[in-house]
Order: sequence, then C-alpha cells, then structure tokens
Amino acid sequence: MSHRHFCDSAGHWWDCNGTALRRGETEPSVCLCVACGRPLEGFDHGECDAPVELVVCPEHQEEERRRMDEARKAYERRAAQFGFEEKWTRMKALPDGPEKDALGGEIVEWLFGDGDRQRQ
Ligand SMILES: [Zn+2]
Ligand SMILES: [Zn+2]
Ligand SMILES: [Zn+2]
Repeated sequence: MSHRHFCDSAGHWWDCNGTALRRGETEPSVCLCVACGRPLEGFDHGECDAPVELVVCPEHQEEERRRMDEARKAYERRAAQFGFEEKWTRMKALPDGPEKDALGGEIVEWLFGDGDRQRQ
C-alpha cells in the first residue's frame, strides 16, 4: 500500500513509499497522517479525512533546491543593494525618535513593500 502526494514544484501526483523529503529537511522523514497522527504506511486511514500533503517529488527536488537557492541569492542581492544589514544595525543602535522611526519605516517598506505583496 502506498499513498500519494502532490508535487507542487511541477504540479503532479506521485506515489510515496512511506518517507519523503520535506522542505527545510535534509533527511527524508516518515509521512504521518494529519488526521490521526500515525504513519501513513502500515495503518488503515480509510476513515481519516486528511488533506493531501504537498511534497516535492524526488525527481523535482533537485530543481526545487536550485530554485530556492536562486530565490535566496536574489534576496541577498536585493538586501545588499538596499544595504539591509547596515541599515538594520544602525536602526537598532539609534535612540527612540524620528530618525529611528524613519529608518524603521524604510526597512519595513523594503521588506514588505515589494515582491508579491505589492500585487495584492
Ligand atoms: Zn509520503
Ligand atoms: Zn490516519
Ligand atoms: Zn515532481
């Protein structure tokens, strides 16, 4: 008996044999039923109404990793351009007042003002 996951990297179903590598993990972990908390393999989950877990399939993990890597690098580039580290350090060191507020506002705007959130 195997269960299925939906690969949200490429958008397809795949059969899983009991363990899968999840985002943020370096080792595959046992797939657990969200409804009852038991491993998906070896137990009957016919009565469980668990949502399907989105897990990138083994074939697309490499690609996904690359994509995440690129996203991280792009972020780091933007952060360097903006001077995030330096501004952040400066902001933290400033005493409370208009200067700190202004710098804090600038940082928040940079963090949340562009990318996906801008289109919402
Ligand atoms: Zn699985
Ligand atoms: Zn279950
Ligand atoms: Zn896939």
